[in-house]
Amino acid sequence: MSFCIAVDGPAGAGKSTIARGVAKDMGIVYVDTGAMYRAMAFHLIQKGTDLEDQAAISRDCQDAEISISHIDGEQVVLLNGENVTPHLRNEEVSRKASLCSTNPDVRKRLVALQQKIAQHTDLIMDGRDIGTCVLPDARLKIYLTASVQTRAMRRFTELSQKGEDCDLKTIEKDIADRDYRDMHREISPLRKAPDAVELATSDMTIEQVTQTVLSLVLEKRMEALTEEIDTAASPKCASASGSREADSAECGIDSDESAGDAERRQHRWK
Ligand code: C5P
Repeated sequence: MSFCIAVDGPAGAGKSTIARGVAKDMGIVYVDTGAMYRAMAFHLIQKGTDLEDQAAISRDCQDAEISISHIDGEQVVLLNGENVTPHLRNEEVSRKASLCSTNPDVRKRLVALQQKIAQHTDLIMDGRDIGTCVLPDARLKIYLTASVQTRAMRRFTELSQKGEDCDLKTIEKDIADRDYRDMHREISPLRKAPDAVELATSDMTIEQVTQTVLSLVLEKRMEALTEEIDTAASPKCASASGSREADSAECGIDSDESAGDAERRQHRWK
């Protein structure tokens, strides 16, 4: 039975920094799903796919074999066996990841991979649809937010520190555009799961957010342990929670796949 934490929120809300810190502290795996969408965008860029053409994306995404591994606790993304991690964090890939992530075939492939990873691994996974679609039964769901201006300033500082030439207004517009696309797409739009804890981080330091999340994680760890002890002491298992219909509708994935996922979740959380 794996212990899963879902972290969602818009671009630049601090998801990866917080999730990485929590993973280190708890000794669990950190999975950055945005990097998988970035790897898919990188693949499509290399193939010269027209990202305005959904049929072309559906066709060309089929020959991208994406997988992840961890080296010294850091996630490495492999695309058709090649480590593409160093190519994923630039503005072109960011924009195109947001574009190709609206495609149902891209999402289907990557969501299946993410659910498979979570089946047997204690982890903290971040993205846009983790609490609503990928891991609807996650033990803890966090939704991180911050104003567009704060997020743009964080990104500007990060890029400037790396010596990269950048413009605050352009970053602000890119973030606002990505927010709009992520929140308004038809399939798995970015939104807070009803049972997620929302943390508005504009006026919080990384340390404060990390500590807040860690105390929530500890609470849930205790809850999980108590349940395991109760289950061991009782011959009957508690049934899994969550509505399959609601999950499928939220994800926009086909019913066969949701049925399998729901079954897996039942095994995981029973
Ligand atoms: O998190 P990151 O900025 O690296 O993600 C890149 C893009 O991938 C996002 O703008 C979003 O459109 C997409 N994405 C997604 N679902 C996820 C993670 C990322 O649609 N679970």
